[in-house]
Amino acid sequence: VSGIPVIWSAGYACEIGVHVFPVEKYELVHQALLACGAVAPGATLEPGPPSRVLLAGAHTDAYLDDLEGLVWSERTGRSELPLTAGIVGAFSLAGSGTALAAREALRHGAAVHVGGGLHHAYADHAEGFCYVNDLAVGIRALQREGLVKRAAVVDLDVHQGNGTAHIFRDDPDVFTLSVHQERNYPVPKETGDLDVGLENGTGDQDYLDAIGPALERVWAHQPQIVLYQAGADPFERDQLGGLSLTFRGLAARDREVLRGCRARGIPVVTTLGGGYAMDTADTVRIHVTTCLETLALG
Ligand SMILES: [Zn+2]
Repeated sequence: VSGIPVIWSAGYACEIGVHVFPVEKYELVHQALLACGAVAPGATLEPGPPSRVLLAGAHTDAYLDDLEGLVWSERTGRSELPLTAGIVGAFSLAGSGTALAAREALRHGAAVHVGGGLHHAYADHAEGFCYVNDLAVGIRALQREGLVKRAAVVDLDVHQGNGTAHIFRDDPDVFTLSVHQERNYPVPKETGDLDVGLENGTGDQDYLDAIGPALERVWAHQPQIVLYQAGADPFERDQLGGLSLTFRGLAARDREVLRGCRARGIPVVTTLGGGYAMDTADTVRIHVTTCLETLALG
């Protein structure tokens, strides 16, 4: 069993009806980590309910008011999820989860959040399947607490991390890298510190060739923590992605990021991000592999 903490909550489950987003994946990934002995029973850390102050680190008061009141507005209405207390609560809790994981990563060198990576949420509005940008919530919490100044987001989801890029666009202390499929949602894209837009059908080797130099730019920023958005949707059989990575390529991607952090002594938080494989078991398998690669750092 690794000394690296795993963060998850049963509260990530919510009812979203028939939807391409497999919200059950959080529980399935956690179960798989227990089943293979990677995490001991009872060892999982559960985030507490997110405070308003925590969420306000990344989001505007007007938007948080709409979320709390379940008000359908121009701020909440760009979400592609229903606006219910259960859904908003589950994804707000993920903000608390990433903040907890970030604090744990500072103490243990790494942490696994079996959740989060909700990179399309902006400071003042929802987008895609994202109400709360947990990555930004986590970084802002550490900055506010004086635990770190410089941070980086390594976002390897198939979709650009537009919300994250926008939230940190004026913060020179936070470097945002997004490597994504160029011709895919979101359109138009935001400008992060480094955006690498890949051609349709990019496979394992070309992908790995692209992230190597991109990660060098991250290391040059000298972050005191890296938040890794390890989206499973660059997978070749993803319904919302048009890249062609295999299981093996995705695992190599994870190792490149995680071992790169470890080699430089940079604490790293793994978050799950997207994943819409035809077969949800494939998405779960990819996420579990990412979690195991992170736990292997301990
Ligand atoms: Zn995605």
